[in-house]
Amino acid sequence: MRITVLGKSPAWQDAGGACSGYLVEESGTCMLLDCGNGVFAKLREVRDYVDVDAVIVSHLHADHFFDLVPFASALTYAPRWHPAPVDGRPGVEVPRPALHVPGGAAAALRRVCAGGGMPADHVEGAFALREYEAADALEIGALRVRFHRVPHFVATHAVEIAGATGRMTFGADHGPSAELVEFASGTDLLLLEATLSQPEPAGERGHLTPAEAGDHAARADAGRLVLTHISDELDQGWARDQAAEAFSGPVEVAAEGAVFQV
Ligand SMILES: [Zn+2]
Ligand SMILES: [Zn+2]
Repeated sequence: MRITVLGKSPAWQDAGGACSGYLVEESGTCMLLDCGNGVFAKLREVRDYVDVDAVIVSHLHADHFFDLVPFASALTYAPRWHPAPVDGRPGVEVPRPALHVPGGAAAALRRVCAGGGMPADHVEGAFALREYEAADALEIGALRVRFHRVPHFVATHAVEIAGATGRMTFGADHGPSAELVEFASGTDLLLLEATLSQPEPAGERGHLTPAEAGDHAARADAGRLVLTHISDELDQGWARDQAAEAFSGPVEVAAEGAVFQV
């Protein structure tokens, strides 16, 4: 399984960066995990978007799904679907990738599209949309997918993706969670957000510090830890060191364009 970081920025992009998005490939299956702002342009740098078999969205915060709108526009309006008419030319078959979104997301996507001046069914028309529940298990080509709810400000799911040679666990956005540790137990690659420089001072927790991400990786006995959803305004070496104090395995900070083999 090959994982390419398309976007690792938090809710505001790094300089030249993109929000949450990862390309996961295995034996001819191509899956996009999250599709935040800027991710569609990053996808186009490494793959033709028509090669994406399925998109999975962890939760409906803008930085994890906003680029579904331009992705849908490409699948609807790109010139390749409307070639100059030639007599006898066979019709062009427009692909309709699978889109797996949390329960209730279809209605939210209709509101976003309509509010943005697009037809309300702009995304639903371009993708084969299906709402998933936390208990669902999906088989997408050569990849198997499981979910687990994590504590965040909206319904959010950690995503496990297993291929022929190993498995990766993506925490999405979440505050400290013993359940995430259990869900990720023994995973080969743990991809955890490390958005905060300090824990939120009060109220509901919804994100992690790098040290907390390291602690989760240690308790999950992960093979390696990749910190993500981390701003270029935060010192990346400091973040790595903070995580490494808690987790003795390999720790890296995600960079856009980085490739991980699992
Ligand atoms: Zn979020
Ligand atoms: Zn986020």
